[in-house]
Amino acid sequence: MLRMVAQDVGAAVSGLIELDWLKFVSFDLDKTLTGYVTPSVPEEAVGALTLLAGHGIKLALVSNARGGRIERVRRIGDELSDKTGARVGTIVPSDATGQAKPHPAMFEAAAKAAGVEPGTCIHVGDQFCKDIIGAERAGFAGTVLVAPIGEGDHLGVRLLQRPVEFALRPILGYPTRTKNFPDHLHHLSPQTPPHV
Ligand SMILES: [Mg+2]
Repeated sequence: MLRMVAQDVGAAVSGLIELDWLKFVSFDLDKTLTGYVTPSVPEEAVGALTLLAGHGIKLALVSNARGGRIERVRRIGDELSDKTGARVGTIVPSDATGQAKPHPAMFEAAAKAAGVEPGTCIHVGDQFCKDIIGAERAGFAGTVLVAPIGEGDHLGVRLLQRPVEFALRPILGYPTRTKNFPDHLHHLSPQTPPHV
């Protein structure tokens, strides 16, 4: 599978539209498309999704939101559908047998809802352990790790998961600091995913 990095979704998109086999791109929401506490998606990210939609690529949000935050994911999905002119699906754990990322059920549910094979899909997210490993376990063709954006963060992610990522990334060949992410879609050398 392809492991790629880019500073943000805007930086990733011009490279993604060149992949002629690509049928579907799923996005993590929090810290990937917008901040954790931000009510909507910034215009730059909307523009990136609109460009993908214009190339006939199907889109979805795949988020581990639970409880009251599920409504926010659905609302942003509807908002993005209006703005991009293409249906932007939403998958949260309750849509995937209650399993959360990195469980492959989340990504399988997203591909199934869009009517595409995992081998034609790419997932974009800001967390290696949830977004990259999860999509690879579901057989997605590729992944893009982006630098986290926006205000706020989930407390557990900030205290427990980001420090683990910070330690893991250099070993896996990924950048750690935002300034070290490229401003274009960059392919890392093919690697075998770590055992999970
Ligand atoms: Mg995230």
